[in-house]
Amino acid sequence: MTASTGPSHGSRGGRRSAASVPDLVARAREGDARAVARLISLVEDESPLLREVMTALAPFTGHAQIVGITGSPGVGKSTSTNALVAELRGAGRRVGVLAVDPSSPFSGGALLGDRVRMQDHATDRDVYIRSMASRGHLGGLAWTTPQALRVLDAAGCDVVLIETVGVGQSEVEIAGLADTTLVLMAPGMGDGIQAAKAGILEIGDVYVVNKADRDGVDQVRRELRSMLAMGERRDGRWKPPIVTTVAVEARGLDEVVAEIHRHRAWLVESGELDVRRARRARDEIEAIAMTALRARWGDLHGHASLDGLAASVADGTSDPYSAADELVAAISA
Ligand code: GDP
Repeated sequence: MTASTGPSHGSRGGRRSAASVPDLVARAREGDARAVARLISLVEDESPLLREVMTALAPFTGHAQIVGITGSPGVGKSTSTNALVAELRGAGRRVGVLAVDPSSPFSGGALLGDRVRMQDHATDRDVYIRSMASRGHLGGLAWTTPQALRVLDAAGCDVVLIETVGVGQSEVEIAGLADTTLVLMAPGMGDGIQAAKAGILEIGDVYVVNKADRDGVDQVRRELRSMLAMGERRDGRWKPPIVTTVAVEARGLDEVVAEIHRHRAWLVESGELDVRRARRARDEIEAIAMTALRARWGDLHGHASLDGLAASVADGTSDPYSAADELVAAISA
């Protein structure tokens, strides 16, 4: 898929409704980029058809390795993603890229950016690139992104790279969605301090020190190594490697890919892949169930509504526990 097959491209007219879900799923499975794009648009639009789509896709999921790419703005995430796609394609892998903008409520807004950023891959049939705004009204990253990942997975991607664009508190959320999390750092960005703040030292499976053509790489590596050593993980656990890259020159990306593969092998051997995926499925179910519950109490009116109950707690005629019990009783009725 190229950026030109994004959500606003020919999908707002009658054509979307013309294709049935089984047809779209079958075409996506055959690698039809437009079908993949339209399925992801259904996710973004929170379409009522999603239930049917996900039922149809479920048997085909579980193959792709989901790789999260995190790091401070400017560290080189987009450049590295682009270079990684090239490296993975060189190895014959089918690749999906999901660029998520957690701060934007708008869909498809970054498409033009993609077209520029990813033009190296624009004509490659085995690369699916998609931008998604994730702060929809139904619950953000937790709700939409996993469904988009399911689409790319079922479409036969071997690897799906998920990258955040824009600024947000999204590092940890991305790690929660990924099998393997890359944490990017670069010299001259005060990353040491930022890393400690963002809790980034707990989430990385592979640390990448980018911009190795600049001064200060050794210092970043040293600092990182000693910080990782402080939180040394138990025997038999994965010890995150530190890889050095120059993304603008596509240097070191082969090593990043090798570590991604090595991590995948460890995930399988150790049973951690199943653990992570079960945890993820649990989060997905919870997010969908919470959305359904919120929708139900959004339909309540009068005293039993959330606003009505809130008023009675605020004026002291009820308390939050009783009010919560009433709310639960009202939606279960
Ligand atoms: P992002 O905000 O994390 O996605 O970072 P970008 O990929 O947009 O990169 C930010 C800037 O750093 C751009 O101007 C890139 O050209 C530059 N950059 C990326 N990788 C390297 C590198 O390895 N060396 C140098 N010198 N600059 C780089």
